[in-house]
Amino acid sequence: MTRGCIICAGREGDEALHRVEVWRDGEWRLTLSLDAEVLGFAYLEPLRHIPTIADLDGAEARSFGAAIARVSRSLKAATGTEHVYVYIFGDGVAHLHVHLAPHRDGDALNSQMIRGEIVSEKLPDGFERFYSREFPALPETEQRQVVEKVRRDLNAA
Ligand SMILES: [Zn+2]
Repeated sequence: MTRGCIICAGREGDEALHRVEVWRDGEWRLTLSLDAEVLGFAYLEPLRHIPTIADLDGAEARSFGAAIARVSRSLKAATGTEHVYVYIFGDGVAHLHVHLAPHRDGDALNSQMIRGEIVSEKLPDGFERFYSREFPALPETEQRQVVEKVRRDLNAA
């Protein structure tokens, strides 16, 4: 527990955030918002103070997949939605929290990842590519530099 962390504060923090805990195991807990624009908006968080997704390790890293799949199935069933959107931002509260948002067509959720006016382009293979008029793709050479850095890092012996 980290002092001053609203997520480590548990139920007390939940009251301030207007949400209720519905499940926990030895590593994770799930709370549901009582103040959301869609039904079943939820937060999956490790009990241990893990600041960001990049810090995820140990038992929580091993159990993350099973936990997120289980709670997502439950949210889908409870809300009757076909999709659960998942967001991790990490630049707000410094305790890892996964936002889970059951989504149906026409609800309050934005289905775009990029800001600005979204334009779609049909690709020859039938897929649709979306891009933002205000934020065009960055130069491919810059993107390839990052590709190489990540490739080298992940494949280093
Ligand atoms: Zn914390």
